[in-house]
Amino acid sequence: MKRVVVIGGGPAGSMAAARLAESGLSVSLFDEKLAWEKPCGGGITYKAYSQYPFLRDNAVPKQEVSNTWLHSPKVGGVRVNLNQPILIYSRKALNGLMLERAEKAGAQIEQERITGIERQEAGWTIRTKRGLLAADYVVAATGARNNLPGMGTAFKPMDTMTALGYYVPSERRDIDIQFFESFEGYIWVFPRPGHLSVGICGKGVSAQALRTRLEEYMRLHDIPSKDATFYGHMLPSLDHDSWRNNRVAGDRWMAVGDAAGFVDPITGEGIYYAIRSGDLAGQLIGSDLNAPDKHPQLYAETLRVDFTDDLAFAATIAKRVYLGSFLFGANHARMVQFLRRSPTFSATMQEVFAGTITYFDFRRKLLANINSSLGEIATNYLLGRPSAESVRT
Ligand SMILES: Cc1cc2nc3c(=O)[nH]c(=O)nc-3n(C[C@H](O)[C@H](O)[C@H](O)COP(=O)(O)OP(=O)(O)OC[C@H]3O[C@@H](n4cnc5c(N)ncnc54)[C@H](O)[C@@H]3O)c2cc1C
Repeated sequence: MKRVVVIGGGPAGSMAAARLAESGLSVSLFDEKLAWEKPCGGGITYKAYSQYPFLRDNAVPKQEVSNTWLHSPKVGGVRVNLNQPILIYSRKALNGLMLERAEKAGAQIEQERITGIERQEAGWTIRTKRGLLAADYVVAATGARNNLPGMGTAFKPMDTMTALGYYVPSERRDIDIQFFESFEGYIWVFPRPGHLSVGICGKGVSAQALRTRLEEYMRLHDIPSKDATFYGHMLPSLDHDSWRNNRVAGDRWMAVGDAAGFVDPITGEGIYYAIRSGDLAGQLIGSDLNAPDKHPQLYAETLRVDFTDDLAFAATIAKRVYLGSFLFGANHARMVQFLRRSPTFSATMQEVFAGTITYFDFRRKLLANINSSLGEIATNYLLGRPSAESVRT
């Protein structure tokens, strides 16, 4: 029987392993840590759990959040009551759930670091500390710190964000997102079972500057860092051209998840794209392992239609979203104000939070509705109608 080796057991690797095992292949998944608390917010959108219901329908502890506060420096905050809640997992719990699922499907799960990989005539030799093994096909699911030569995204400095934060022993019900003037990134406070994940991501800023900004925020908002655990990791955020030249597959290999840079360059959402790419890669390899020469083009084309074209488009507008302005105010300030007084704008933003609208369609809708949104704001303001809740700042 043909053997596929999956390197990495995060959401991308375990999803690929489950799909491959379901299609009857011999699958071995290697992860040096198996289930671990990977630095992450752990937020999962409706798009992810409606497409993959096992993410919602399980007994693993997770927080269901129905309110998100958005804050912009000059205008304060607005509370968005989400039509579709966001699920927040600890990553150890999520990775454990997904590895168990892969194992149940028939994949063999090993705790082992892959230290080297060499091409053979019709497959691969894979090196671990314990020895060598042979594979017909390899799935690179090693995350953003991918060490496999020649496989997956060749990250350039402009293709990454730094992300860091604290796990704080505390409780909360709502999500908070804080934007800043002239800053490409944001701070998040995500409630999880038993603790908060409080973090910051930013592009073109040093880790030290991010940490200082985050600690200042925590001090101002009475979030103690004393008993908190610090975390930091690289977050893929591919530039537009890098999406076009991205190295996602080759002769008898495919890259999935962060190893292929599959993260939304605006929001930093990566768990869905890890699972989706693992699923698509698993389906493709499983459907015809005897025609590997067709795989690279098929995989790239499938991804393009599914989500990479839209994420490449997102990369062209990411800077404008954070640093741009509209009617003499920062875009994020206008977003807060529109959310307070325009039902039309709020309805479109609900789709963004749920993840059910592409960036192409989001822009199209914003432009098509701009006059009605501005009209609603003016009318509601002049009539003195109360705006959406905006007390917390
Ligand atoms: C601070 C931060 C916050 C984030 N918040 C969110 C969020 O709230 N929501 C969201 O959707 N996304 C978020 N993301 C992005 C998300 O974490 C990633 O997109 C997602 O984890 C990618 O999954 P993956 O399986 O591709 O990689 P990973 O989850 O990184 O898994 C890779 C695995 O490969 C293993 N591995 C690596 N090299 C080897 C080797 N040589 N041998 C054996 N094993 C190896 C590692 O141990 C690891 O388990 C965040 C990222 C960061 C950094």
